[in-house]
Amino acid sequence: MQVIRDNLARVRERVAAAAERAGRKPSEILLVGVSKYVSAALSAELVAAGCIDLGENRPQQLCEKAAADEVAPLNVRWHMIGHLQRNKVARTVPLVSMIHSVDSPRLLKAIDQTASELGKCQPVLLEVNCSGDAEKHGFTESEVRDFVPQLSEFSSVEVRGLMTMAAGSRDLTTAAANFATLRNLRDELGTLAPAGVEIADLSMGMTADFEVAIAEGATIIRVGSALWEGVV
Ligand SMILES: *Cc1c(COP(=O)(O)O)cnc(C)c1O
Repeated sequence: MQVIRDNLARVRERVAAAAERAGRKPSEILLVGVSKYVSAALSAELVAAGCIDLGENRPQQLCEKAAADEVAPLNVRWHMIGHLQRNKVARTVPLVSMIHSVDSPRLLKAIDQTASELGKCQPVLLEVNCSGDAEKHGFTESEVRDFVPQLSEFSSVEVRGLMTMAAGSRDLTTAAANFATLRNLRDELGTLAPAGVEIADLSMGMTADFEVAIAEGATIIRVGSALWEGVV
């Protein structure tokens, strides 16, 4: 579908330009195409256009889409980006290449247990509430500092980094401050993490603020709306 290919090309150009302005390489930034707005058939079009990393924010939708006829034969790397309840872990872990939204020690323990049963090592990110917005999920900064030294207890998860959502305003200055908070926290965790745990990735930035996120060091951006303009 041409409109989806054009949207993807435009987003990739914007990623490249933002990376260049920040003195970074575009290849350092993974684009996750958020497919939650569209059908399995349209999600498959985005994969065909070259975006094989897809994100969904609801476990149920992720499972249904991954199993859909249009999508199942494709080589998709699924990202769980929204709140994950513990009773959905068993059906989600077998499907996903990364879980961005680990927001409690109990959830990480459940993921670790399921992954262990599957003989899998599950890559995850810890979600941090940097904006202080009570509506948002995630560890506080101090909870993350307290938790990270305990990560050696989990042998079937690989905690690769941190994820955040900026405050829900259109104010890019606030978004930039939230993203800088996440980057500084990641840098600080380097000294707190157990040996063998490398907290490097920063999943931050959506349609409204991904360029700001790239300037602040994002290694993964989660973009939905900009990819589906003129489609939905
Ligand atoms: C929907 C969603 C996105 C994408 O948002 P857009 O503004 O449509 O780009 C990113 N991250 C999460 C967690 C989401 O739920």
